[in-house]
Amino acid sequence: MSIKENLKKVKEETSPNITLVAVSKTKPVSDIIEAYDAGQVDFGENKAQELQKKQPELPDDIRWHMIGHMQRNKVKYIAPFVHMIHAVDSYKLAKEIQKQAAKNDRVIDCLLQFHIAEESTKFGFSKDEFFEVMQENNLLELKNIRFRGVMGMATFTEEQDQIRREFRHLKQIFDQIKDQFGPEFDQISMGMSQDYKIAIEEGATIIRVGSSIFGARNY
Ligand SMILES: *Cc1c(COP(=O)(O)O)cnc(C)c1O
Repeated sequence: MSIKENLKKVKEETSPNITLVAVSKTKPVSDIIEAYDAGQVDFGENKAQELQKKQPELPDDIRWHMIGHMQRNKVKYIAPFVHMIHAVDSYKLAKEIQKQAAKNDRVIDCLLQFHIAEESTKFGFSKDEFFEVMQENNLLELKNIRFRGVMGMATFTEEQDQIRREFRHLKQIFDQIKDQFGPEFDQISMGMSQDYKIAIEEGATIIRVGSSIFGARNY
């Protein structure tokens, strides 16, 4: 099936109030154009330098989502244009985003990444770590960041129950912390090609789908 047909299929399985981020990492600009021409405007990349390279070659009204783990020294490459940073997993990273957003006279939407997977390889705050950060620092002082919600990745497994449990956990964390931020903290980014249907059932407002749209990646 073509990219256009894949997109249509994924969209049919989501609802219009869920943001579909088409994850275009490793894929050529021509694939992104094909999706864009079919009406897709939200795209996700997981490497700052790849994103920095693709962005000028593509239409200005694309909303670029940085979905991967970020090194602090790479924030400057994407701060001028990025629409949302999904994986804020330390106060140090938040402070660097604040600095670069201010330099560019922007307010950047960010999500807090939580570690919800039972496997130990994924990045993100644990709930305890997050409460420590909140006690020691005031995230709301970072005026050039608008914290919009949470992000998480489930374990890569066939076990549907486990995936569901992990997504449910993220939703619980979201419910527990949202009052500290206010009404704009309203987004839950969870769900990828293999598990976005479960994520939607568990309350996702943003899903990040790559291979189901663009096909398998060759690394
Ligand atoms: C690659 C990636 C995705 C998309 O993965 P697919 O399985 O191809 O849909 C989603 N989120 C993050 C953080 C990723 O790195």
